[in-house]
Amino acid sequence: MEEKKPIVTLGQAYEAGWRVNARCAHGKKRGMKQMPECYENAELDLETLVWTRGEGFPLQDLWSRLKCPHCWSRRITVLFDQSANVKRSRKVTPQ
Ligand SMILES: [Zn+2]
Repeated sequence: MEEKKPIVTLGQAYEAGWRVNARCAHGKKRGMKQMPECYENAELDLETLVWTRGEGFPLQDLWSRLKCPHCWSRRITVLFDQSANVKRSRKVTPQ
């Protein structure tokens, strides 16, 4: 077993096989009747996130870069599934 390191970046979450889901939080807990709740949610592709943000990007800042494609809200909740254990083969340079 590898030693447990705290996972705080995209690259670490990617290697740990996590899944990431984003859920729109628009309209919730606001008490504004004219704002219907938005239930938009999506699984984010960690590989693409590493491509676009870099492997050192902090997970805790991820939500601030996200926007709901349905209502354009920036109130996004990011959920990490740490038990997903997605098999990811890192492509090591071929000999
Ligand atoms: Zn939304």
